[in-house]
Amino acid sequence: MVKWRNGEIPLNIDILSENNRLAERNRGYFEGRQVVCLNLVSSPGSGKTTILEKTIASMIARRKIFVIEGDQQTARDAERIEKSGAPAIQINTGSGCHLDANMIQLALKKMEVTAGSVLFIENVGNLVCPAMFDLGEEKRVVVISVTEGDDKPLKYPYMFQSSHLCIINKTDLLPYVDFNVETVMANARQINPTLEFLLMSAKTGEGMKQWVEWVEGLKD
Ligand code: MG
Ligand code: ZN
Repeated sequence: MVKWRNGEIPLNIDILSENNRLAERNRGYFEGRQVVCLNLVSSPGSGKTTILEKTIASMIARRKIFVIEGDQQTARDAERIEKSGAPAIQINTGSGCHLDANMIQLALKKMEVTAGSVLFIENVGNLVCPAMFDLGEEKRVVVISVTEGDDKPLKYPYMFQSSHLCIINKTDLLPYVDFNVETVMANARQINPTLEFLLMSAKTGEGMKQWVEWVEGLKD
């Protein structure tokens, strides 16, 4: 479990331990069906939904894909995903600002995720508390876009610490912004030395091939 640097856990310990128990059940469900589950986390507007649309387009011929979309309101992202050809279910968290393992369990009762598929969970755009909530995913993928500050890993260390892969998205905009790729990588490695990086422009397709290979290379 991720702890804050000063040793405090700012959320009720009972909530988190109950969440961890449910996350383990989800993990068992995924393992039993050889489903690869990925939890995509980021600030709002980093391009997660566009990444998923492009990912579905390039993988769907080889692999069944399912998506759980988390947002406070609207079904807009789930509608976009379904247009790109993958079944999607929208979870609206209302005033809540993260997905938890129980919400995933309820979604799995409504959407039959078939054996051998990939399940992408697009978390609520928020770099803070989604870091604390294990959903039972195999890997956590943090997306940062180059329109954000390259000090984000230092400001939101728990998210970068708990992630396995960092996608640096919107690289097509690099010539127009003061975002230093080397700086963000160095900052993130201070927090998490084993974090992997992938440069991507979901718009131009840069990095998409490497990303799809990374997903398809995960043991299921
Ligand atoms: Mg989205
Ligand atoms: Zn929250």
